[in-house]
Amino acid sequence: MTTQWLISLATDASDQPLDVDAKAPFAVVFEQLSAKFPGGDAAICQLIADAFGLPLFENSALNSKSVRLVPESIAQKYGCYPVADSGSHVTLAIANPADDEAIQAINFAAGRTADLVIASPSQINHLIETGYDHPHQGNALDTQTEAHGQGDTGFGVRGKNVSSKLANAGAPTEKLFLLILKEALNLNVSDIHIQPFVGGAAVRFRVDGVMRQIKSMSIAVMSHLFRHIKAIADLDTTNARTPQDGRLTMTTESGQRDLRLSFLPAEGGERLVIRLLANAADTGGEMNFSTNDHRIITKTMQITSGIILATGPTGSGKTTTLYSMLKMLNHDTTNILSVEDPVEIKMRGVSQTSVNPAQGLTFPAVLRSMLRQDPDVILVGEIRDGETAELAIRAALTGHLVLSTLHTVDALSSISRLVDLGISPILIADALRCVLNQRLVRQLCQACKSAKTEDQLTETERLFLSLTNDSPTIFGAVGCSSCRNTGYLGRLPITQIWEINEDARTILRNDPHNERALKEEADRRGLRSLFESAKDLILQGATSVDEAVRVIGNSFWQALGTEYLEVREQGSIEKPVKATEKLLLVIEDDILRRRIASQLEAMDYVVTALKDSESAKTHIASGYPVDLMLLDIESASATPMSHFDTLQSALAYIGITSVLLIPEGATEVETLLELHQATDWLTKPVSDEDITRKVVSALHRRHL
Ligand SMILES: [Zn+2]
Repeated sequence: MTTQWLISLATDASDQPLDVDAKAPFAVVFEQLSAKFPGGDAAICQLIADAFGLPLFENSALNSKSVRLVPESIAQKYGCYPVADSGSHVTLAIANPADDEAIQAINFAAGRTADLVIASPSQINHLIETGYDHPHQGNALDTQTEAHGQGDTGFGVRGKNVSSKLANAGAPTEKLFLLILKEALNLNVSDIHIQPFVGGAAVRFRVDGVMRQIKSMSIAVMSHLFRHIKAIADLDTTNARTPQDGRLTMTTESGQRDLRLSFLPAEGGERLVIRLLANAADTGGEMNFSTNDHRIITKTMQITSGIILATGPTGSGKTTTLYSMLKMLNHDTTNILSVEDPVEIKMRGVSQTSVNPAQGLTFPAVLRSMLRQDPDVILVGEIRDGETAELAIRAALTGHLVLSTLHTVDALSSISRLVDLGISPILIADALRCVLNQRLVRQLCQACKSAKTEDQLTETERLFLSLTNDSPTIFGAVGCSSCRNTGYLGRLPITQIWEINEDARTILRNDPHNERALKEEADRRGLRSLFESAKDLILQGATSVDEAVRVIGNSFWQALGTEYLEVREQGSIEKPVKATEKLLLVIEDDILRRRIASQLEAMDYVVTALKDSESAKTHIASGYPVDLMLLDIESASATPMSHFDTLQSALAYIGITSVLLIPEGATEVETLLELHQATDWLTKPVSDEDITRKVVSALHRRHL
């Protein structure tokens, strides 16, 4: 890119020759000219503005929300800043309006046309530094050092042989680790992710199910930190090439929390996920069921045999729900056993076993020995194979109450899932008592939520209101200091509870594959959808329409049904809300790739389709924004281990929502995905429609 035009411009306007290095980058030339030119930065900006007939940047035009349009990395790379968003246009502060490449990149990233305003490179740097949301970057943790330096005698972490306390933490790395943990505890975080990113390493927290970037650091600091953590967790500090799992105990003034560590080698370096396991004191009652749901669950808990299933995707609170149920059953007179992978919530009075296949402790093996222990209630962490399913059903049919979870999208599909696992519908009819399907939505922050006026309503909110007869108040998220500017604090379940009655049993026995008859029967008895449950919470002002759309995606649009179609006249309820989202497909199979790409393109997504993960890496590294990656991890030359490698590369791109296609029977991959709370995956064979549906719903639920 040439800088000559700027030098000529400044020289012409000045009385004397301005000697600068024309080959230097634009920002450097700008700075050199500014130092020699009367009036400095402001005068140079004015010259450029006049020459191009463009306005100057003004602070009053700043709209903080516009940063969402352009990723920080792109803004930095091209030296520009999105000042304001006006729907189809974005106001862009830039020093070099002749930089077509930058303008193209922004147009593409923002999905809008850039209207340029002129600002100096230093103004733009300042805007980037202050405008992008680094909610706690640096500052929060640094302030903690001062604020808590003295009074933290009680805060520390303990490994097998080593323990360290914040009060006397010596080395900076030791202190950094304790401060990260302390901050995580303060913010009620469920997982801490530390991983390499382009140009450094990032610490991210999962709070209320949503990832937030907290701090960045250099790769060198991250490596020191990892070695320190491995040392106290009694792991191999020299090994960064194979996955390692460990445990630590965090001690605080109010008690202890167990931490589960998982180091995973990935593209660009090792990454670490620390899960903060729930406290015994947190269990039960934590799930804030609505009065009606609570009544049904309490009633169901009166039964003494049969099976109760909780369904939903990873992170939907299934385990917490089961523990809320266990708590109701936990008396001196009941013998409760649990087998989980691993035990996440400790509960007094329950004999809990973690599976450990290396020691022969598989779900079926543990279940078999449990049945010899005369249990009243058995909690099976998850039914994911036929043998476990069969044992669980058999236990349920022989006088035990079995609680378990299944990975299905709704209550009714638990039947077909069990049939797929080889269970006869007749046995299901006899054993199954109740299926609870749930999701978690974030609760609007009580301190700052605000009622929306008529003209503040979005199109989606208007459609939603059209489904209700009266005109209730709709609340929206605002953001304040108590919710860390997210507008949300805490989570609430939205639920669908299907009680299996005699009529349903009859259908299962006589016509087991007639899902439609089952659905009609359930509807007759008023089986509520997740949408209806979400609707209650919206009308109570407990959550927002945006949040319900994020969490339940398609069901929301389906429920809006006809109204939505009429307004959009688009013909498909799966129409994306924001069609300019950019998708990256990585599918080796030429035919499948073309088919899926053209389907998604027809839905107005911007699609880049690539054959292998190598070119995907190049694509991402080049800075092009990607909203979602669809990755088929099956390839012609694949072995289970190469699946694993591909997957690890994919996981290294955390921050990009991904949908993975997994070959049938790749259980080790599924386990890894579960462990890392990967967002979405589909096990092959799968229909094209299922793939596009998954992509659309993943985009809807995309982290804000
Ligand atoms: Zn708030």
